[in-house]
Amino acid sequence: MTKLEQLYEGKAKKVYKTDVEDVLIVDYKDDATAFNGEKRGTIVGKGVINNRMSNYIMKQLEKEGVPTHYIEELSDRETAVKKVQIVPLEVIIRNVSAGSFAKKLGMEEGKKLLCPTLEFSYKDDALGDPMINSSYARALGLATQEEIDTISKYAYKVNEVMIKYFESIGIELIDFKIEFGRYHDQIILADEISPDTCRLWDIKTREKLDKDRFRRDLGNVEDAYQEVFKRLGIE
Ligand code: ADP
Ligand code: UDP
Repeated sequence: MTKLEQLYEGKAKKVYKTDVEDVLIVDYKDDATAFNGEKRGTIVGKGVINNRMSNYIMKQLEKEGVPTHYIEELSDRETAVKKVQIVPLEVIIRNVSAGSFAKKLGMEEGKKLLCPTLEFSYKDDALGDPMINSSYARALGLATQEEIDTISKYAYKVNEVMIKYFESIGIELIDFKIEFGRYHDQIILADEISPDTCRLWDIKTREKLDKDRFRRDLGNVEDAYQEVFKRLGIE
């Protein structure tokens, strides 16, 4: 497979065309942004960790019946993926109160929720990714009800699989964001699953092992990403 011209440069990844139909190459960067791009920085080694971790988790999810865009890891930072039409929804699942949820509801962080919650944000940087519900998504033509049902079903399944997996390596899955895309007639999981897109806390110490260390200037950002990577035991 040959990497052709760059199609897009996002905040965390570059996306390239290839000589194979329906196949893209994503290239993970060390660039970090938060608060809709207002805070910028670098997390050394993040691109490698996010690429390898995301691929590892997507492979597990495939085995559990969740279709994903993953095709092949090409290098430490590059992966071949199925080219999808991204559904412009950020799909967020929460198991424990944190971040915008805790703030909005006047709750402290770290409270276990009685059941997992599912929410959608409209993926639009100019609007600051506003939270919407499924009827907004239908009304705006972002997705059909059938697509929303499939996305919701897969999102809960991803949560189930990931809770168990992270628990086995001493990590509590607090919340995460995923994206889906349309590939021919199918809805498949796309984008990435990494410490950039999940809140991951050490089960014993409840130390944050994710991008909140960068967002909130907690220090030891690289160490936290490395710790998650080490526990995953990817070879
Ligand atoms: P952002 O666009 O938010 O700055 P990134 O830097 O992660 O984010 O850029 C990657 C872009 O590629 C995102 O917009 C994401 O929705 C999109 N994307 C992820 N996976 C695929 C895929 N399989 N096919 C097409 N686009 C994808
Ligand atoms: N998230 C993300 N990208 C975003 C917004 C949120 O990956 O643009 C992830 C975030 O890392 C967390 C979850 O989604 O794991 C829920 O985030 P929240 O809504 O609490 O927003 P935040 O507090 O990060 O603004």
